[in-house]
Amino acid sequence: MRIPRSASQDSAVRPIPLAGTGGIDRDAHHRLDEAWLGAAWSHPSTRVFVVSGGQALVEETADGRTELVMMPSFDAPVTEAHRYFLGSDAEGVRYFALQKDALPGRMDDVARPAGLREAAALLSPRDGQLMVHAVALENWQRMHRFCSRCGERTVIAAAGHIRRCPACGAEHYPRTDPAVIMLVLDEEDRALLGRQVHWPKGRFSTLAGFVEPGESIEQAVVREVAEEAGIAVGEVEYVASQPWPFPSSLMLGFVAHATSTEVRVDGDEIEEARWFSREDLRAAMDAGDVLPPYGVSIAAVLIEQWYGKPLATTPW
Ligand SMILES: [Zn+2]
Repeated sequence: MRIPRSASQDSAVRPIPLAGTGGIDRDAHHRLDEAWLGAAWSHPSTRVFVVSGGQALVEETADGRTELVMMPSFDAPVTEAHRYFLGSDAEGVRYFALQKDALPGRMDDVARPAGLREAAALLSPRDGQLMVHAVALENWQRMHRFCSRCGERTVIAAAGHIRRCPACGAEHYPRTDPAVIMLVLDEEDRALLGRQVHWPKGRFSTLAGFVEPGESIEQAVVREVAEEAGIAVGEVEYVASQPWPFPSSLMLGFVAHATSTEVRVDGDEIEEARWFSREDLRAAMDAGDVLPPYGVSIAAVLIEQWYGKPLATTPW
């Protein structure tokens, strides 16, 4: 099977959640301009939301959509908050996120806190992009408060995109950990799906793993498939990527062509792996032996593009 590169963002099957810009221009060149940022923050059209512990407030609209709860900056709780500039939309509206220790309370019962895994499946591409950017920055900010060179406490800069060390002058940038996720196919066009030891019964998905230091992403695909399932891989094709800030991954999606078929799982990370034809997968899902994939994950997109039509998916 060949999956065209153009399948990445505008797939006929399913767009990849969180992977598009949602019409937001990050305007990175303004991040060091404090005067510009101050004016943008104060503008009445600017919209702000709070991010805390990977969650934000969402609400359902009258017509059934789910949106981030946003407010003008003059309503925003600024005390001791970290302020992230996230970008602008085509109408010139600027968006900021505030990192707080808790989400703000509201007088109504319409708004509710949601984590990114849940929200990603519900929000518009614009709100999904704003939230994934804010959550990724928050995860990094919370875990990198001290200088990795000298140990001094660092301070936020560049509207949330740099931490500076006042002692040694080091600048620290947000961390992203590349991980590969791959649908392995054999010569009969069967797909290899595995289950991790800690997953619920019936949960099968694509294999995945982190890229190691000094390794290309193609090498990582070959190594991970060999380690986890004992399968040799030849050709490797990149398909698409997905930001996955849990806490800081970037999932790089591939189709990998196997040159062997005898499965030997590591038993450590992967408990079981099986080859599925399309008919096998449909029958196993119909019988309840295999659970539908999580719709928010790029794994569902990789599996569906092979399967050829939409699959039932489950929310996180
Ligand atoms: Zn330092």
